[in-house]
Amino acid sequence: MQRVLIANRGEIALRVQRACRDLDLETVAVYSTADRTSAHVLGADQAICIGPPPAAQSYLRIDQILAAVEVTGADAVHPGYGFLSENAEFAERLMERGVTWIGPSPDTLRRMGDKAEARSTAVAAGVPILPGSDGPLDSVEAAAQRANEIGYPVILKAASGGGGKGMRVATSRPELEKGFALASKEAESSFADGRLYLEKYLVEPRHIEIQIFGDADGRIVDFGERECSLQRRHQKLVEESPAPGLGEELRREIAAAAVKLGEAVDYRGAGTVEFLLDEDGSFSFMEMNTRIQVEHPVTELVTGIDLVKLQLEVAAGGSVPEPPEPRGHALECRINAENPRTFLPSPGRIGALRLPSGPGVRIDTHVYADYAFPPFYDSLLGKFISYGRDRDESIARMSRALREFEIEGLETTAPLHARILRDRHFRAGHLSTRFMERFLSHS
Ligand code: ADP
Repeated sequence: MQRVLIANRGEIALRVQRACRDLDLETVAVYSTADRTSAHVLGADQAICIGPPPAAQSYLRIDQILAAVEVTGADAVHPGYGFLSENAEFAERLMERGVTWIGPSPDTLRRMGDKAEARSTAVAAGVPILPGSDGPLDSVEAAAQRANEIGYPVILKAASGGGGKGMRVATSRPELEKGFALASKEAESSFADGRLYLEKYLVEPRHIEIQIFGDADGRIVDFGERECSLQRRHQKLVEESPAPGLGEELRREIAAAAVKLGEAVDYRGAGTVEFLLDEDGSFSFMEMNTRIQVEHPVTELVTGIDLVKLQLEVAAGGSVPEPPEPRGHALECRINAENPRTFLPSPGRIGALRLPSGPGVRIDTHVYADYAFPPFYDSLLGKFISYGRDRDESIARMSRALREFEIEGLETTAPLHARILRDRHFRAGHLSTRFMERFLSHS
């Protein structure tokens, strides 16, 4: 491996570029016409325009990216997250050309990409799942029948879902009927696949996920958990590691389940197994993300492992190291270019910019002063990650970072994050996926 094409944009493209630099690998950036002046383009050894702003005409164009691979002589592709990162056909077409795909096999991508099938794979591997449908539902009647058997509330989800889209909670049959129509429409338009499945809806769970890593020798290890319960509309806002108050025994059990699933699919590279932890301490597999995760830095800070660099090394045939004992506590705030009260996107040209720094603070962002933040993509402006010897120190450092942050020209969710960090329930570590709903209705 010598020249890596990064099939992505924004902060993650820059993050991957940095890992390549650390390994003395050349980098190739691809970009849409909206991203000409983006940091990932300016910093790459080579950069190729792949189309107009809409992602469907640029970052999602397999043919355009294959052409860019050809023209630049890249011998490996890192897909980042989102866009084509979980696309089996893309991986296959690269591999056919002898280009290294930095990710798991196309077969694994397919098995885990179909979330209804992933549930069956988990069952076969002996990993607990929530009661629900066996595979996709072929009609609203089938959904209603299964919902009656397991009892309401239930959640309908898109088989090809992601990013919180195509999900509907139903507490009764009429709601289920309405939700079924809406969710399948949304799934059809977002994923070109309207198939739905359902499972029992837990009222107040925590979202706990495990970072796993597999290598070519078939060794699968876990690098601990991340707590991602702070969500708005199923989108994560704050993540941390370790998960507050989880307890050693439960932590081990959940991690062992994640590794078991990884072994069952002969997992290679970085992957995340997501679980819901119910109030009674039982946990269930939700889905597996077969790529690097947005929130990977919290794991990097507590383990001292550069996960993106390890992705590159493992793709080149390297092996995974023995997982170290995690140390200290890390938090991540996803800062979006949005109004902090209405959550409406706030793209625009950035004026003056002061990014935080100092002890225990890491900022992963692609923005700079005078950068025009485009309206075409997700609104992630950057990730603030803090590290401390314990949770309190990590919170104090994050709060300091949020206070130092100054930006002109657009609105961000930083003020909301600052308020969350002051909240006494947050400080006490009383977290669940309902946390934000309550927080937002009270403040
Ligand atoms: P996506 O891939 O779209 O992110 P997930 O299946 O990972 O979808 O679910 C996202 C979030 O939705 C979870 O973190 C959780 O907050 C909520 N959720 C999903 N399934 C359930 C469930 N069965 N019960 C309660 N909440 C759920």
